[in-house]
Formats: sequence, structure tokens, C-alpha cells
Amino acid sequence: MMIFLIICSAWLLSLIVVCAWKYSLFKKTWNEFYFADTPVLIESDDWGPGEGFHAQRLLQLLACLASHKDSVDRAALLTADIVLSVPDIEKIMVDPDAGYHRKLLNEASPDIYQVMLQGIQQGVLVPQLHGLEHLNGQAFARLCQLKDSRIAAALADPKHWDWESLDSVLQGHYVDGSELPSQAISSEQAQSLITLASQTFIKLFGFQSLSSVAPCYLWNSDIERVWQQKGVSVIQTAGYRCDGRDKLGNYHQNLNLIRAGDLSEFAQVYLVRNVMYEPIDGNNNADTAYQEALVAYAQALPISISTHRYNYTRGEEEFKNSLKGLDRLLKAIGSNIGRIRYLSSPELGQQYLMDGIEIVNHFNNSQWKPLKQLSGIRKLAPFLWRLYYRHPKLVLLAYISGLIIPASLVCRYSR
Ligand SMILES: [Zn+2]
Repeated sequence: MMIFLIICSAWLLSLIVVCAWKYSLFKKTWNEFYFADTPVLIESDDWGPGEGFHAQRLLQLLACLASHKDSVDRAALLTADIVLSVPDIEKIMVDPDAGYHRKLLNEASPDIYQVMLQGIQQGVLVPQLHGLEHLNGQAFARLCQLKDSRIAAALADPKHWDWESLDSVLQGHYVDGSELPSQAISSEQAQSLITLASQTFIKLFGFQSLSSVAPCYLWNSDIERVWQQKGVSVIQTAGYRCDGRDKLGNYHQNLNLIRAGDLSEFAQVYLVRNVMYEPIDGNNNADTAYQEALVAYAQALPISISTHRYNYTRGEEEFKNSLKGLDRLLKAIGSNIGRIRYLSSPELGQQYLMDGIEIVNHFNNSQWKPLKQLSGIRKLAPFLWRLYYRHPKLVLLAYISGLIIPASLVCRYSR
């Protein structure tokens, strides 16, 4: 008994010391959002103009999502990050002023566009602005005029060429990566591109994009300012912001740590992708994605799955494997994690910004009850998990002091 009391006293003393030392960190972490319902997002970048067969692939992907239902009987849905246009290479080549010309999604790929509209009506697709295009138009036009070898494939077969085949340094939209280090576009260019993107998005989908994710995760605070003027109040991220590439092509971060729920300089809320399901890349799959989903769930965070279009638009066999894996991942999440809620990114963002408001899908006018938050002592276990996954030095200290034992007991029995 005496030994037990001595151990408890030592833990208490250690706890007081650690709390005093890390008070502001603990306070900030405690004051974050903790979700009682687990939001599940499926974020898929790069949907837009493409080969005709993309329409069928998207149709099958959406049919798979429709077969999964959450705790309020809502179907799984794709937050489809839309590229609104592709370059009109033939026009660019004959323009004496070397101007950039584009073909919009509905003109270039009407079948894909129709499948998107159908998915929107069925509630299994919510469009989100990715970019007016997935490249820098001015730089691309200049390279066309120069017949630059880096775009030789585009010039050789403009009708079947895909921007995904460009060097990744040329795929950024809000930077010019044709020469390194890359250059951010000017404020005037940002204003004009985002204004046109915003107008085009409303024209194609009937409502503004309240959220956005920048192509190649390359954007800066100037872009955020213009987004904000155009009604973008939610920014999807991978947990950091990059404003360009250095002379070797490496990403340069100017916000190197973003947590879900953090606010930008312009009061937009950041979301963070925390589950990678990109099987084509070969370094993750449904099993690793499921493990990441469990880690997010333990911390009462949203499960935000990143799964790009290219997983579903390569060869038939690769497509089937990607789709089968996604189906398996959603089954595992649905069966083993209680009270999941399928949501799109703008909807989740609005929950962060206005706690307790109805969830509204503005694209098909459906409404869903708001997400529930954890409060008081019910936050303790996920709070401890957040400390555990984010701060390895604290974890080490917890092992040395023995505090890991009571912390583990809390985590094990409280949720
Ligand atoms: Zn992209």
C-alpha cells in the first residue's frame, strides 16, 4: 500500500511539473476540436478534362461510394478537386501574341462533366476548386512558342496529351516553375485567375467553391487573400504550405506545421489530409490507410483520405485494384469505427467555423444534422493521443517518469 502511495505521489508530482512546463501547449491542444462523430472525407484531386474513359471510371467509383452509408444513412461522397480546364494547344501555337488559351471542362470533356453533375445530384460528389488549370498558363504558352523539349509530348499529340505527364515543376498553378527557383505569380495575376476560376466554377456547378486546395500544394498568403475575397473560407492542406521550389526543385515551406482547425491570416480554416490511399504510388494501400484512419480516430480527428484521380485512370487492372482497395478501406472504417459521418471538405470546414450549424450540401441542397463534439473529461483520451502522436520528447518523458502507465489506462478504458 505504502509503495503504491509513493508511486502515485511521484506521478502526481511529475504531472504538476510537466503541466507547468508545457502549460501553453496543453492548453492549445485541449482547446482544439474533438469530434464525437468521426468525419470521414474522401479527397480526390485532379478530376477535370481527360480521356473519354474517365467518365466510366468515375461512374464506377461513385457507384462504389454510394454503397457505403454512415451513421445517419448518408452515402460516402467524393470531394472532387476540380481542374476546370486544359490548355488549347492548337490555339496557343497560332497566337501571334503568345497568349494562353484554354478549353473548359464542359467543352473538352462533356461526358466527364455529365457524370460529375449526375454524382452531384445523387449526393456522392461535391466539387471543390483545385485550379483554373493544373499548370501555369503563361509559362506553358511561352514553352509552346519556344517548342521547349519539356512539352514535346504536348506538341506532338495535343488532342491526347495529359497535363499529368508534365514534369512536376511545371504542374504548379500559382507559381511559374519553368525556371528554378520558381516565381510566385503577381497579385494581379492571382486576382484575375481566381476571379475567372470562381466565375467558371459557379457557371459549371451552380454554387461557389467555399473551399480549395492548390495544385501541387503550392500557394502563398496572397493567394489566400484572393481566395477569401472570392468566398473561399476553407483550405485543404497536407499539413503544411509551400510557396515555391528552390533552385534544385525542392519544395520551400513557409508554414511547416498546420493542424486541422488552425486559422489562416484571413480567418479561413485549414483542413489536413491524414490518411494516404494512393495505391498507384506503391508505398501505401488499404491496410496502411486503415491504420492511419485508426490513429486519426484515436485522436478524435477527422479521417481525411487523400486519393488522387490517377489511382482510377490508369490501366484497367490498376483501376480495379484501386477501387477494390478503397471499398475494403471504407468497409473497415465503417465496421470498426463507431458513428462515422461522411462529409465533404467545405462541409467539414463550416463545422469548424460555426460549431453546431446544420451541414448543408449546397450543390444538391441536402441537409444533415451537425457533428457532435466531445467536451469535458471525454476529451481526455483523444487529448492524450494527440500529445502522444505529435510530441515524441513528451512521450519519452512519460516513459521515464512512469506517467505512461496512468495515461495508457485512461486511453484504454475511456473511449
Ligand atoms: Zn493536383
